[in-house]
Amino acid sequence: MSLVSSNPAAGQRSITELLADPGRPTFSFEFFPPADEAGMDVLRQTIMDLDHVGPDWLSVTYGASGATRDRTISATKFIKTQTRAQTVGHLTCASQSVDQLLETLSSYRAADVKYILAIRGDMPGGPTVPWVRHPQGLANATELVRLIAENFDFGIGVAAFPDLHPENRDADLDARLLLAKQEAGASFAVTQLFFDADAYFRLVDRVRAMGCTLPIVAGIQPVTNLAQINRFAALSGAELPERVTSRLHAVGDDPAAVRAVGVEIATELSADLLRGGAPGLQFFTLNRSRATSAILANLRRLGLDRRTPAAVSDG
Ligand SMILES: Cc1cc2nc3c(=O)[nH]c(=O)nc-3n(C[C@H](O)[C@H](O)[C@H](O)COP(=O)(O)OP(=O)(O)OC[C@H]3O[C@@H](n4cnc5c(N)ncnc54)[C@H](O)[C@@H]3O)c2cc1C
Repeated sequence: MSLVSSNPAAGQRSITELLADPGRPTFSFEFFPPADEAGMDVLRQTIMDLDHVGPDWLSVTYGASGATRDRTISATKFIKTQTRAQTVGHLTCASQSVDQLLETLSSYRAADVKYILAIRGDMPGGPTVPWVRHPQGLANATELVRLIAENFDFGIGVAAFPDLHPENRDADLDARLLLAKQEAGASFAVTQLFFDADAYFRLVDRVRAMGCTLPIVAGIQPVTNLAQINRFAALSGAELPERVTSRLHAVGDDPAAVRAVGVEIATELSADLLRGGAPGLQFFTLNRSRATSAILANLRRLGLDRRTPAAVSDG
């Protein structure tokens, strides 16, 4: 049953159409729901700052508890009403019944959100806490994709893992699951953060060999301070190549230099991915605009951001 249309506004190309354009990679930005009102103010300002660089879509991660989830919905509605970008609502099936999931989907629909990133989610407490299915809930992201596709007409995105999903570390299983998600109704994927372009291209080759045709947007995490790097790797399961950490540690005493090197590393990774055919990049912004804006400006100088001038400004 189709309850809501995924047609974008008149004149605006859908995310699927954008990702099918080989000459024009997409640029999208992800935020997280802040813990308090002061954090919401920072996030709103960041969203408005980044709206000037013409993102193709914006999204806010879906938290593990009720209060953070309300802030996710509220920030997502802010994006929908205050920016020109398309809006992707994140939804996880952790600690929720099917009825609660349908209720959240209805509130995204009521806010006129047209796309959902359907992910399993991690347990409250983080990715190291073993996954337990809610007694009236779903077992995994594939079931969530199916639930959405059977009840709504959202465009559906899913997660992908260049460095393998940390729970199983099984490349074939990851690839089979992406195909299963496509068959259940997904139309694009966004990867977890990673630092080695070859890991992304290996993932693409693996899933294509299985017949999965989902466009796979590469997730980029700029490292802006040294304390972040091990935390990112621990939380995401991403491999941290020595050639990356050594460049950051070499300037470790100078925060401005660490930030500059972090931007340089993310620019190089982004450039390798786009030159190798990645259909788009999604920046994990940590609710700040500076690093992402700097990387985008670098990519424009390299001729790798080929959006029309109307969609882009120097911000
Ligand atoms: C772009 C992106 C955005 C994210 N946004 C959020 C967010 O907003 N909120 C949040 O909490 N988390 C978010 N995450 C993290 C995500 O929830 C975790 O990485 C989670 O552990 C996996 O999600 P998934 O959708 O890949 O789950 P699934 O596809 O369900 O996989 C989870 C695990 O179960 C295994 N599995 C699944 N199905 C089967 C099966 N049929 N047979 C055997 N094994 C199976 C998989 O191998 C994997 O190890 C995001 C991740 C990415 C990449």
